[in-house]
Amino acid sequence: MNWNTLSEKQPYVTRLLTNSMDKHRLAHAYLFKGNKGTGKKQIALHLTKGYFCKVRESSEPCGECPDCKRIDSGNHPDVHLIEPDGQSIKIEQIRKLQKEFSYLGLESKAKAYILEHADRMTNQAANSLLKFLEEPGQKTIALLLTENPQQLLDTIISRCQVLTFAPQSQGQLIDTLIKDEHPEHLVRIASALTNDQKEAVELLQDEWFVQARKNVLNLMEELVKRPQRALLVLQDYWYPHFKEKQQIEVGLDLLLIWYKDVFLTQLDEKQSIVFKDQEKLLSDQALKSSQNRVRDQMVLLLEAKRRLQANMNLQLLIEQLVLKLQEG
Ligand SMILES: [Zn+2]
Repeated sequence: MNWNTLSEKQPYVTRLLTNSMDKHRLAHAYLFKGNKGTGKKQIALHLTKGYFCKVRESSEPCGECPDCKRIDSGNHPDVHLIEPDGQSIKIEQIRKLQKEFSYLGLESKAKAYILEHADRMTNQAANSLLKFLEEPGQKTIALLLTENPQQLLDTIISRCQVLTFAPQSQGQLIDTLIKDEHPEHLVRIASALTNDQKEAVELLQDEWFVQARKNVLNLMEELVKRPQRALLVLQDYWYPHFKEKQQIEVGLDLLLIWYKDVFLTQLDEKQSIVFKDQEKLLSDQALKSSQNRVRDQMVLLLEAKRRLQANMNLQLLIEQLVLKLQEG
C-alpha cells in the first residue's frame, strides 16, 4: 500500500497530508471523521509510517526499514494504538499514554498515538486527553478517528485539524463486502439501500433482511404469474414480516429497487441491475409490461413511501398499493 493507492479512496485527505509532510508542516493533532470503511485507520497508520521512517522519499515511507516494519506488525515502541476497552476508552488508558509521553523530554524521541473510536472516550478520559492536546510535545502526533464526530467535545475538536473522509462509492462498498465474504446477491441489495458500511453489514447479518428479500421475490413472482393470488401472499407472507413502519419502508425500498431493475431490463442496461441473480423473473416481468407501465409503478411506490410517513392505516396502504401494482 502507498499514498497512490490510498488516494483512490480518499484523494482530498491524502493530498492534504502528503503536502503537509513534504513541507514539514504536519499538525500536532488530527481528527479523521468518516464512515466505517473509508480508510481512516489505514491512512493513520501509513501517515505514522511516513512520520517515523528515516529513509522515506518525500512523503512515502520505505516500507522496509525497522520503523516501517514495526509499525506494520503493530509493535513499534513509540506508536500507541488505543481502542475502546469494552464499551469505552477509559481514563486509565489515557493516563497510561500520558505516562509514556512524559519520558519524551529525556529521550527526545518522536511519538505518535492513534485513538480509534475517539467519540467513545468517557468524559473523564476526554478531559484528561484535552490537557494533553493543549500541551503538545515537540515531536508528537495525535490521530483521533471517529465515525460519530458529533459525540466528541467541542473543545477536543477545536484542538485538532479536522479531515473529513469521503463516503465510499457504491462500487467500492460492494467490493469491500464481497471481499469480506458476504453473499453477493445480498451485498448488491444492502448496498443499494445504504452506502454506510456499518449499516450494510448490520443488514447482511440480519435474518429478517434475508427473509425480507425472499418475501419481495415471492410477491413479485405471484404478481407476474398468478396476480389473483397477490392478496393472499400479502396475508400469508407480507403482513407477518413487515410490521413496523421502518420494516415496511425497507419492503417498499426493495420493491422500488425491483421495479427499477425491471425498467433497466427493458432498456437492456443489465450491468446496473441489483437483483442480478433474478434475471429470468425480471425478463418475464419486463416482457409482460411496457416501460410506461413500469414507470407508473415506480411512481406508485414513491407515493406509498410518502404516505407511509403520514401515519395512515399501514395494512390498507400496502393492500391498495398491491392492487394498483397488479392492474394491467
Ligand atoms: Zn521506512
